[in-house]
Amino acid sequence: MNRTYLSQLDQQIQPIEPLSHSKVYLVWHDQLQIQHFPDWVIDEKPLLLFIESNHMANFLPYHKKKLVFVISAMRHFALDCQQQGFPVFYHRSSDNYTTALAALLYKNNHWKLSYMRPSEWNTRKAIEELKVEYPTIQEFPNTYFLAPLQPYVSRIAKGWRMEYFYREMRKRTGYLIDGQKPLGGEWNYDKENRKKLPKKMNIPQSFAVEVDKMTEEVMEMVEAWYPKHFGDTTEFSYGVTRTQALAALQYFLENGLKDFGPFEDAMTVRGSVLFHSQLSIYLNAGLISPKEVCDAAIDYAEHSNSVPLSSIEGFIRQIIGWREFIRIYYEAMMPDVREANYFGFDKNLPAAYWTSRTDMKCLSECVRPVIEQGYVHHIPRLMILSNFSNLTGTDPRALNEWFWLGFVDAYEWVVLPNVLGMSTFADGGVLASKPYVAGGNYVNKMSDYCENCAYSVKEKTGDKACPLNYLYWNFIDEQRDTFLQNGRANFMVNTFDKKSNEEKLAIKESSETFLANLPRWSKKDWLEKEASPS
Ligand SMILES: Cc1cc2nc3c(=O)[nH]c(=O)nc-3n(C[C@H](O)[C@H](O)[C@H](O)COP(=O)(O)OP(=O)(O)OC[C@H]3O[C@@H](n4cnc5c(N)ncnc54)[C@H](O)[C@@H]3O)c2cc1C
Ligand code: SF4
Repeated sequence: MNRTYLSQLDQQIQPIEPLSHSKVYLVWHDQLQIQHFPDWVIDEKPLLLFIESNHMANFLPYHKKKLVFVISAMRHFALDCQQQGFPVFYHRSSDNYTTALAALLYKNNHWKLSYMRPSEWNTRKAIEELKVEYPTIQEFPNTYFLAPLQPYVSRIAKGWRMEYFYREMRKRTGYLIDGQKPLGGEWNYDKENRKKLPKKMNIPQSFAVEVDKMTEEVMEMVEAWYPKHFGDTTEFSYGVTRTQALAALQYFLENGLKDFGPFEDAMTVRGSVLFHSQLSIYLNAGLISPKEVCDAAIDYAEHSNSVPLSSIEGFIRQIIGWREFIRIYYEAMMPDVREANYFGFDKNLPAAYWTSRTDMKCLSECVRPVIEQGYVHHIPRLMILSNFSNLTGTDPRALNEWFWLGFVDAYEWVVLPNVLGMSTFADGGVLASKPYVAGGNYVNKMSDYCENCAYSVKEKTGDKACPLNYLYWNFIDEQRDTFLQNGRANFMVNTFDKKSNEEKLAIKESSETFLANLPRWSKKDWLEKEASPS
């Protein structure tokens, strides 16, 4: 660690004397927007404190592109703030936030420190520990979300679904409301949004920016300091500034929004983004805000005749519905939900999640972009990566950790509810109404994976058969009590029970053979194999 990899920042940041400032405002790594600073911070321009912590970067073996994104975005934002007239103190530390801050406060005991409430539990805990010793530290409310915590946090419980919350949010924001009614007469056009991608339909290139010297330096640093982390930095092309995030938004409006709705659930070997926005990366870092994204999308849809209602409604629902609901769920369910494991699964992840090597085309096609880019859109996350994890009895907490370390847009407040609530049913049905599981038919209906696969989606059991086919029925049978209690899903057990005894036996045998031979690696196994790849 001899090289500091800070030359680009050092050349541009003006040295400040911490002792000569008394009011200090701490900027977290996912709150990168001046417009969201409390008013007094904007008016008074106190010293802005940034902490880049190697310890935090090593908390998990995060994807190298995620580290590049978070660190480069923070450095760029520090410079933006300086340009806007703020004095900036950019502090690099090998300690965690609590220790790093404690050392700074000890040296500068005249500081009056304040900050905005962090979205993530661990960051919140870090600062709360310090407040015991430094009770003058002041917290301001988090302004990066649209929905107030109350009354919604207290409503989180089995049976209170996202759809109810979403309708309230439509009324609260006024988005796509005509008088008191939903525009077009329906609240939700999801049933129109399940088209397979036509073979000849073009898909846009994903949004990409050219890296500057500062990002290049961070890329070198990440490769040198975090060599064993997931993925690599090659061809990093995500935006790292607010201007670039706004350009990504504009790019999506012009290239993705029109077809977003109808092809929202489609998957293809031709790409991992399709008509999705990739805006989660910028939203979750605070570079852009949910309100400006929704305002811009609605404005664009109103002024262009090309955006169908199903696309704009579908997109707005993702943001004011799902994204906000997920955050409310996190606030209501933490910290106990971290250990949620309704089915009691205890197996390690299938090894393919670390390597993408498998004969199952659906799985390799969905893991590969995660390794390469730290991104794949929602349906692969839900219906391939989580589905296969469920069907193979994998510990949902291991899956959650994998998503958290592997995706550029993953922060605990958003990844955990999606994995332990939505996709694995680990919370026993607080977030989702039924376990999301599917066989090969679903994948074949929504993608072109099966036509390129070593397995046959038409065959139901045996060596050549699509593993999802028999694993799906095996899962329904093994978890029959859960399905039988669920009015929306009990028909699955009835369908299984109507199968002949021979078919049931073949499903059992194929599943047992497949599961017994499935290579599995824990995070530790993977790290050891990375260290000695032979
Ligand atoms: C197993 C699993 C893990 C996930 N992990 C994450 C994660 O770590 N970080 C993350 O931001 N999202 C996560 N999601 C939700 C969703 O898949 C992503 O938000 C979305 O794929 C991001 O890509 P996009 O910006 O192209 O989304 P688009 O399809 O373009 O959607 C627009 C925006 O809606 C929001 N959104 C949509 N669905 C959700 C949702 N379920 N939860 C929260 N926001 C949503 C996002 O901000 C997204 O940018 C996960 C979903 C699943 C099933
Ligand atoms: S045949 Fe089965 S394993 Fe192969 S791509 Fe289709 S769903 Fe996946």
